[in-house]
Amino acid sequence: MILIGSNAQGLAMYTILITGANRGLGLGFVRHYAEQGMTIIATCREPDKATELQALAEQFSHIAIEALDICDYAAVIRLSEKYADYCIDILINNAGILVSVNTAYDAETWLKSLETNAVAPMILTQAFLPQVKRSAIHKVVFISSSYGSIELATAEGSIYYRSAKAALNMAVRRFALDYTYLEITAVCLCPGWVRTDMGGVNAELSVDDSIAAMVTTIAGLESEHHGQFLNQYGDFVPW
Ligand code: NDP
Repeated sequence: MILIGSNAQGLAMYTILITGANRGLGLGFVRHYAEQGMTIIATCREPDKATELQALAEQFSHIAIEALDICDYAAVIRLSEKYADYCIDILINNAGILVSVNTAYDAETWLKSLETNAVAPMILTQAFLPQVKRSAIHKVVFISSSYGSIELATAEGSIYYRSAKAALNMAVRRFALDYTYLEITAVCLCPGWVRTDMGGVNAELSVDDSIAAMVTTIAGLESEHHGQFLNQYGDFVPW
């Protein structure tokens, strides 16, 4: 089944895949796009515990919840095969982890950060490229962080997280060079500092405010943004 069309209001009806959809910004993306009438493939590690996501899926029939640990590459392939005939208009690589560094570097923890934040989103994107290429919209969004900017680096923040987001940025930049804007549009997008489990209670932005800004930016992506690093408002972030 190839899903593409428009709803009764004439709004384009897209299919959107979101990782880490059970809480924080991922859940915010699901809520926003569901309210717009979009079809959503919402992935998360433990659907049985994703009560808020389940409640949204009961409210909006066009949300499919799929169990997925993005670091389980066999599961990524199985999910891509399950949706092999779909057209995915927007792929949002949102899932990520921030682990603090204690007194000494721990290789296993660091590698897990690199894997989750940088490697897994690229492997997942590769797996779903046929579905994204089928779309005329074909946007791939990688949720990054200004903490991944080398130019903006300060002596704060986890080295595991910063280096992983910097690796993601380079991977996306390199990936984007394989495509023109008219084939695949790929961007790194920083959501701002947001009040989620990761961002903490003192963060500047609510999830709703960050999502409102990001969805506007995603909708307005043009050729100049392809392969670039943007903040939630669509401004360029220094690499
Ligand atoms: P949260 O910690 O609230 O949520 C993280 C999400 O990622 C959860 O759904 C979590 O699932 C999921 N996740 C983590 N590891 C995996 C995995 N291996 N497989 C599948 N899902 C996984 O963070 P935010 O919502 O704040 O962050 C979303 C994105 O935004 C991240 O990429 C983050 O780096 C980025 N970001 C956030 C900022 C902020 O201020 N909040 C600032 C800059 C960037 P589970 O519940 O199973 O753990």
